[in-house]
Amino acid sequence: MTRTDPDSCPGVLRLHQAADGPLARIRVPGGRLSPEQLQALAAAAVDLGDGNIELTSRGNVQFRQVRDAATLGERLTEAGLLPSATHERVRNIIASPLSGRVGGWTDVHPLVPALDEGLQADPRLAELPGRVLFTLDDGRGDVSGLGGDIGVHAIDENTYALLLAGKDSGIRISPSEAVDLMLAAAHGFLELRDGQWRLHEVPDGSAQLTEHLLTSRSDLTADGEPLELAPRQDIPIGWLNQDDGNVALGAGVRLGSLPARTAEFLAAVERPLFVTPWRSVVLTDLDEWTAEQVVRVLAPMGLIFDANSPWLLVSACAGRPGCAKSLTDVRADVTTAVDSGRVIPTGAPQFPREALDADDIVAAGRQHWSGCERRCGRPKGHVTDIIATPDGYRIDPGAA
Ligand code: SF4
Repeated sequence: MTRTDPDSCPGVLRLHQAADGPLARIRVPGGRLSPEQLQALAAAAVDLGDGNIELTSRGNVQFRQVRDAATLGERLTEAGLLPSATHERVRNIIASPLSGRVGGWTDVHPLVPALDEGLQADPRLAELPGRVLFTLDDGRGDVSGLGGDIGVHAIDENTYALLLAGKDSGIRISPSEAVDLMLAAAHGFLELRDGQWRLHEVPDGSAQLTEHLLTSRSDLTADGEPLELAPRQDIPIGWLNQDDGNVALGAGVRLGSLPARTAEFLAAVERPLFVTPWRSVVLTDLDEWTAEQVVRVLAPMGLIFDANSPWLLVSACAGRPGCAKSLTDVRADVTTAVDSGRVIPTGAPQFPREALDADDIVAAGRQHWSGCERRCGRPKGHVTDIIATPDGYRIDPGAA
């Protein structure tokens, strides 16, 4: 696939003109936000946006209905959330959210700032399309299946597999080599691409880039036992005992829209928070008493600490009024479906159906509601599609 147009991914300095107003996307490498950064986002959402912080499927955040982009840029720069004007849109880095705290072979989080700084320090890498995604998986397999372009996946405490276009390249490296090799792969992609936005769009992109790296570095081989990497819906929810004796709390966020008021409460706990690629958050490094108080206060405010909540089964595109292409307000429809008990657990059979009223939809298991056939924001893996059409909703069960 050859593209002739530049990618249109929004940032803070280049807003997307959505139907409900300008939209700004803020990169959060590794999903990590300090309490001060979360507080700054909450304040900006109220002062300059629609009052919510939207969580994206890449662990970034975005604001809708932005009123003053210049002031937003200043505030984010002050909070350390816009460190580069030239490279802001290429800082798409997902890391296993629980890494270094709960399980995993190794802690991938120290690699995040090193990779981020390496990207920003290299003028040529500002030319990467804003859709390129880097993944850092500590071996548990939670983010390697998310369709990244360039990634590493720990296979033991001292070895990473290099992933290209979501596939195992066979190249094995030590932790100290990981960042440099990912940056070399990013350069290689720029040399190979002919307008493509993603490595998988380049014909034989993964194999070509592997060959490119082997040619440029004589010490590398690509003879590792191939890894099978599958998409997983591995949302960390509820009480999670950290390896150091502290507690992490995983919290689902309804349709990925975090109200600023809830974000302020999370920031007030004064612990690091991670935005996950499943549109949820993980609050870390809590003692047990504090964790209990967080659940007591924030569950009634809508955060989801129950792994069996139907809210964890549903996702939706922006729909109306945010998207001009949408045939309906899908987020209102899915909210009604959840509240009225029509989103039911996995296991019940699901049949294809067409021309349905929103109130007649009963759907089981993971499901993504879309306002048109483009199905923006659809999660990877086994998901039932519920799609608005001119004749009503259509249910497409279980397409992978
Ligand atoms: S799926 Fe369609 S309606 Fe929904 S956000 Fe994408 S383009 Fe808009």
